[in-house]
Amino acid sequence: MARRDRPRDARARRLMGAKADAAYLALSHALDEIDAPPCTDDPRFILDIDQLAPGEAAFLGRTVCNTCPIKWACIAYAEAARPSAGIWAGRTYKPRKLADPEPHAPDTVPNPKEDR
Ligand code: SF4
Repeated sequence: MARRDRPRDARARRLMGAKADAAYLALSHALDEIDAPPCTDDPRFILDIDQLAPGEAAFLGRTVCNTCPIKWACIAYAEAARPSAGIWAGRTYKPRKLADPEPHAPDTVPNPKEDR
């Protein structure tokens, strides 16, 4: 699903930082080198994950993405940004969760009042 910038993709790139930015640039340059990837205009590639039939992403990966000249860039971007929607080189991704802050055990929480 190498289409440029859906709002959620931009959010995913912000969350993943420099690695996703570099992968996005590589994908963007790869797109400039071809007319259009095989998934262009196929609405199944932009569906949310829960709208896909079981096995549909893998099927499209085998039948459509395996002929794609920019598959390498599509995979690299998707692995870095983990977009929350769409099929990317035959895969779907669940966004990474932001790390929860480490919980402090009650006896390890510093108390600034005790230092007075
Ligand atoms: S690998 Fe598949 S999803 Fe990615 S750009 Fe190519 S055809 Fe589209």
